[in-house]
Amino acid sequence: MSAFGKNIYVTRPTMPPLNEFVGFLKDIWERRQLTNKGKYHQELEEALKEHLGVKYISLFCNGTLALMTALEALRITGEVITTPYSFVASTHALCWNNIKPVFCDIEPDYMNIDAEKIEALITPRTTAILPVHVYGNPCNVKKIAKIAKKYELKIIYDACHAFGVKIDNKSILNYGDLSVLSFHATKVYNTFEGGAIICHDQRMKEQIDFLKNFGFANETTVIDIGINAKMNEIQAAYGLLQLKYIDKAIEKRRRIAKLYRQGLKGIKGVRFLSDIKGVRHNYSNFPIFINNDKFTRSRNEIYEALKKHHIYGRRYFYPLISQFPAYKSLPSAAIGRLPVAERITKEVLCLPIYPDLNNKDVLAIVNLVKSLLS
Ligand SMILES: *Cc1c(COP(=O)(O)O)cnc(C)c1O
Repeated sequence: MSAFGKNIYVTRPTMPPLNEFVGFLKDIWERRQLTNKGKYHQELEEALKEHLGVKYISLFCNGTLALMTALEALRITGEVITTPYSFVASTHALCWNNIKPVFCDIEPDYMNIDAEKIEALITPRTTAILPVHVYGNPCNVKKIAKIAKKYELKIIYDACHAFGVKIDNKSILNYGDLSVLSFHATKVYNTFEGGAIICHDQRMKEQIDFLKNFGFANETTVIDIGINAKMNEIQAAYGLLQLKYIDKAIEKRRRIAKLYRQGLKGIKGVRFLSDIKGVRHNYSNFPIFINNDKFTRSRNEIYEALKKHHIYGRRYFYPLISQFPAYKSLPSAAIGRLPVAERITKEVLCLPIYPDLNNKDVLAIVNLVKSLLS
C-alpha cells in the first residue's frame, strides 16, 4: 500500500444517502411504472429545467445516444467540424450517423476548439459544428455563433462536462441549436448512466422525444426512424435525489481546485487552468499541463510514478480522437495539422478531484507531484 493507505482514483461518484433512496425504490415497486415517461422522469425534467435555467430538456439513458439523437433531430449530414481533444464518443456519434468528422485544432488556453481555425475547414458539404466545452470551460460561443450564422451551419454542443456551468448567470446550455449532457457515473452530476438534450422550442422537444422512443407519436403512429434511448424510473428518481446535493458537491470541488492551485503555483513548466471572470465553473476535472522539455521526468513518467503510489490520474485527452485507428487516415487527422492538440495531449494529466476527496489527500498529492517534478 501507498503512503496514502488506499487507492485514489481520478474521480469517484457522489452518492446521496442510501436511506433516502430507499423511499423512492419502494414507491417504484408499488406503482410498477418502470420507464416510458414515468412520474420521476417527468419530475426530473421539471427539476432540471429549473435548476439549470433552460427551457426544454429531454432525458436520455446516456450521453452518447443523446448526441446521436441530437444529430438525427437536426438532420445533420455530410461533414461536421469538431475537436480531436475530447472523449471519443463525440466523434463516434458523428460516424454512427454517417457523418464525416473534420478535425479542427484547439486553442492553448482552455483546450477548446479554436474558433479562429473553423472557417478554413468549411466546405460545401459542411452542415454543422460540434464543439465540446472541455472540462466544463465554455467554448468561444459568440464567435462560433457568428460563423454558424454566416455559413448557415447548425451547432451541437457536446456539453457532457458542463453541468451547471453559467456565463454571466446564463446557462452555457442555452448556446447553440442543441446541447448534450452526460450523467455518467464519472461526471459532476450522475444518474449511474444518463444524459439529456437541451433545446429551445417545443417542436424540437417533441421531435427529440419521438426519436428517443422508436419514433412513436402515439400508440399506432410511427412518424420517424427512432431509437430506444429512454431514461428509466430508477435513474430518474436517483437524479432527483442527486439534485438536492449538487450545489454542495460543486462547492467542494471548487475548494479542492483552490487547494491544488495554491499548492502547485509557481512551478515553472507546469500550468493549470484558472477561473474565467463571469463564469460559474463546475470543476469537473483538474488538469495540469507538464512541459516535457522542462523536467527530467516526462508527463508519462509522472503518470506512472503516481500510479506506483496508488494515485490514479488520467490523461484526458490522450490519445487524441484523431489518432485512433478509425480516424487517423482522415485528411484532417494528419500529423502536423493539429499542432496545439498534438502538443497538449502529451502534456495533460488530470489529478483526482471529487467531493469527498479530503484536504489531507489533496495536499499529499500536491507534495508528491512537486517532488516528482523536482
Ligand atoms: C462522457 C462523455 C460523453 C459520453 O457520455 P456517456 O454518457 O458516457 O455516453 C461524450 N462526450 C464527452 C465529452 C464526455 O465526457
